[in-house]
Order: sequence, then structure tokens, then C-alpha cells
Amino acid sequence: MPELPEVEVTRMGLADRLRGAQVQAVHVGSPLRWPLGVAPRTLHDLAIGELSRRGKYLWMPLAGRSRSGGLLWHLGMSGSLMLHERDAPPRGRHDHFELVSSAGTLRLTDPRRFGAVLWSDALDAEPARRLLAGLGAEPFDAGFTAQALHAACKRRRTSIKAALLAGDIVVGAGNIYACEALFRAGIDPRTRCNRLSLPRCDKLLAAVRAVLAEAVAVGGSTLRNFRNAHGSPGEFQVNARVYGREGLPCPTCQSAVRRVVQAQRSSFFCVSCQAR
Ligand SMILES: [Zn+2]
Repeated sequence: MPELPEVEVTRMGLADRLRGAQVQAVHVGSPLRWPLGVAPRTLHDLAIGELSRRGKYLWMPLAGRSRSGGLLWHLGMSGSLMLHERDAPPRGRHDHFELVSSAGTLRLTDPRRFGAVLWSDALDAEPARRLLAGLGAEPFDAGFTAQALHAACKRRRTSIKAALLAGDIVVGAGNIYACEALFRAGIDPRTRCNRLSLPRCDKLLAAVRAVLAEAVAVGGSTLRNFRNAHGSPGEFQVNARVYGREGLPCPTCQSAVRRVVQAQRSSFFCVSCQAR
């Protein structure tokens, strides 16, 4: 499943190339998670602005004489975006949305069709406002401090792993990244949020940031169908220290990595290095 780093890598790969381009045609294929919300024809001639990201959503501002607003994109479980600058190959059976622009043809390929592209008059207008409302802080937002994380944790009794996956305190720590960040911070994934001290929250926030930054730097993870905007698979997963390594030695202390299931997801951790 594309996670925040993959979406950020996609954004970085597309933003410069699409900025200022003009929409020439929009082709909608099989239904995605939600309908587009406008007639595709009404998007013609609009100019593409600066691509931004909030959580796992991409926001593409569009402006013209007839209307302004933007498209909110989500890659769902299996989506990827690719910009064909010229000579786009014929649409394949999993290419469910296509935006033809003066900078090339942008395609959403999404075999499982949980992805979405939808029009919103603004980021703070419906439907974008509703979809983004429950999201936690952006991990790289300097305004999101260890104190803020600690305060949010104080109000919860769930495990820290479940809280990270829920994404309503801080976004971006999907399963791989949550496991890796908790390992680096020395925190057992089963630790109750309200028992985490401020210094441990400080370590955790730094670890979440470091893991996500590394993932962005290497181009996202290799999970399933993800291909970044340049069409090459990322490499993050090879750097995992505990994720997917049940029974293998912890890279720090050589104890066997353990796996438990939390919130229907596997948590991988080292009992010796990660304390409750
Ligand atoms: Zn260990």
C-alpha cells in the first residue's frame, strides 16, 4: 500500500514537471472509490498549480477563467501515478484516470480501485475538508513538537503502535514505518500511550521523522505495485531492521525479533531493546 513516503516521492517527481501546465483532456475509466464530482469537460484549459501533500492525499490546484479549485488524489491500496511526457502507451486495463496536459499525460494506475480523484472548490471546502479533517499532524511540521505528541498520548490508553497506525495524532507512520520508528526509539509497540514520558515521546518523534526521511530519500518502499512518478521501484524495505524479520537476529543485540498482531497488523520488535 502506498504510504506517506511514496506519496511524497510521487509529489516530488511530478511537481516541477506539472507546474503551469494546462489541462487538455480528462478521461475517467472504471469507477474509483469516489466519483470525480464534476464533468471532466469542465476541467479543460485549467492551469495546474503547485502540487502539495497532506497525509497520503495529493492536492493539485487548478485555476482558469471558468472555475478554480483543484483535484484531490489518493493512491488507495494499489495506486501509482505516472507522467508520460510524450507518446503515452495505450491505456491499460488498470489505468482508471487520465489527465492529459501540455506537460504530458498523467495516469492513475490502480488495480484494486480504492484510489480516488475528486474535485473540490478548495482544500477547506467540501469534500476535501471532510476527507482531511481527521488527519493528525504532519510529521515534518516544525510546529509538531515532542510536547504536542506527549500531550496527545496522555489522552489515550491504546497501544502506541495502534495510535501511530490510526494516524490521528501524527500521519505517515504506516505499519513498516511505525515498527521501525518504535525500534529506533526503544519503545515496545504494546506500550500504552498514556505511559510514555516526554523524553520517550521526543525520541519517538525523532525516530518517526528519521525513518520517513530515509524512506523518502531512497524513493519509497518496494511494496507491491508501487512505482514512483519516474516508474522505478523504491528500496526502503531492504533497510528494515525489524519489519518482516520475525525470528531473525535483532541488529543491535542479536535476540530473535518477535512478531505480535495489533490492530489486525503485524508488529515486529525486539523484546530486549524495546521497553514498555
Ligand atoms: Zn535487540
